[in-house]
Amino acid sequence: MELYTDLIAVVDLEEGEVEEVDIEEEFIEKNIGGACANTALLAQYPDAVVLGTGVLTGTLFPGSALGVMTAKKNGTVCHSAFNWFSGPELKLSGFSFVVLKGKAENPVYLWLHDEIADIESTDLWGKTTWDTTSWLREELGEDRIQTLVIGEGGEKKSGAALLVNNYWGTDDRNGLAALLGEKNVKGIAMRGMGEVEISEPEDFISAAEDALTGLKSKIKKRGAPVEGLDAITQRADACFNCPYACRNFVKTGTDEGVVIFERHLRDLMAHGLDVKKAAETLQTCYQLGVNPAYGKDPKALTTLGPQPVQPLEGKEGWYYTLGVCPILDQFGIDEDAAVRAVAAGTGLDISAETLDDAVSRL
Ligand code: SF4
Repeated sequence: MELYTDLIAVVDLEEGEVEEVDIEEEFIEKNIGGACANTALLAQYPDAVVLGTGVLTGTLFPGSALGVMTAKKNGTVCHSAFNWFSGPELKLSGFSFVVLKGKAENPVYLWLHDEIADIESTDLWGKTTWDTTSWLREELGEDRIQTLVIGEGGEKKSGAALLVNNYWGTDDRNGLAALLGEKNVKGIAMRGMGEVEISEPEDFISAAEDALTGLKSKIKKRGAPVEGLDAITQRADACFNCPYACRNFVKTGTDEGVVIFERHLRDLMAHGLDVKKAAETLQTCYQLGVNPAYGKDPKALTTLGPQPVQPLEGKEGWYYTLGVCPILDQFGIDEDAAVRAVAAGTGLDISAETLDDAVSRL
């Protein structure tokens, strides 16, 4: 299936078994990808946590870094996003979608690599997200492994639990890290050398270039536009194939540092912290795997009660389906180019209306 690697991993945590299911053309034609495809898979496996990639994730299309996690929380289907390099790495591991069903008897991690999905027992429970990622990379012998891990927040099923990608926070606005904690899943490690095939390469590249040209003409700055942040920033980084380097790396008081996700920093500043203190606190939040939207005391956030579902807003469903970062929306992404890229990439008869119809079902 063009624009995807071929498999869905259906992981039965209770039995410790993985079933590999082919991705059918009809499934993509109807559900496109990302949040829409995840929702369709969740209808088949209602108790599951589903990880999925958008139809454009991991391609030449600008900003195509997004992966999506979907599950039911308080009976409502909801979504959280992860980016950096983890969305593309999930796709290139050979599994464009992963369904985690049931609950492992004891803590495990999942190792996705080259179309192989291993469920491994682990004694990482109780470790910080940082120690977990470092251990996984060392154990699995590869520094470029991307991880999605939980910390104390997820283990304690906190309402403020936050999924962490390697060492940094994701946009896990719905605290789905707590559902991984419920399933006894400490983390997912991903690495792959898979390839994404393109049905009509010239048309796809032309559409991606059009979108990139439009974005570049409007992006004037590197780094997140937060007052005082430039003064403590060492460098600004970008996720996979993104023209807007909005991720500030800030050295904190220790030898370490933190890659900022703008909304998290603003949340801490709204709780009354100055920018430097907010960056330092954010580092601890990421180590413990908690979301500062709910307070400024990271330790207290590891035991927070249930929080309401945060639905997708505005055009987010569209971005979450394509696998493109919604932060780029502020620059007026070329929607026609995105639809042309999907049609040329998949070779399917997908139009703006088809896409809107899928997104309207979210
Ligand atoms: S806009 Fe920022 S968060 Fe989004 S993909 Fe680009 S660098 Fe990553």
